[in-house]
Amino acid sequence: MGWKENRLYSILKGRCPVCHEGKVFTYNQVFHPGKFDKMEERCSECGHKYEIETGFFYGAMYVAYALTVALSVATFILTYLIYPPTPYWVYIINILVVLIVMAPITFRGGRMVWINLFHSYDPKAIERHQQEQEKQSS
Ligand SMILES: [Zn+2]
Repeated sequence: MGWKENRLYSILKGRCPVCHEGKVFTYNQVFHPGKFDKMEERCSECGHKYEIETGFFYGAMYVAYALTVALSVATFILTYLIYPPTPYWVYIINILVVLIVMAPITFRGGRMVWINLFHSYDPKAIERHQQEQEKQSS
């Protein structure tokens, strides 16, 4: 299996979980406060509807939470390794700053992991979508 067929490709590149081509998020500016959370409704390539049912993405919050915990632990360890005698409030501030700065990453990451739990790569998805559209237009 090639890299493009891998689930991680979809997650890391923010691509459709079915065809791994279409963009899930509307804007490439990951850290733009007003844009990072805007999603496409459907995949532009295979027509897959990302929010398969209302409230589907609530579950993504659990994944985002897990990512938040992992980031906090990583920040704690890094702070400790760089300067162990740091007072505890420096740990807290470091963790808060990292979590705030990385919020768009945990948000997008949570949704991308979540969406990939329910869908797998389908190399025929785009072709099938094109055939369906041709049928509709004829
Ligand atoms: Zn797609």
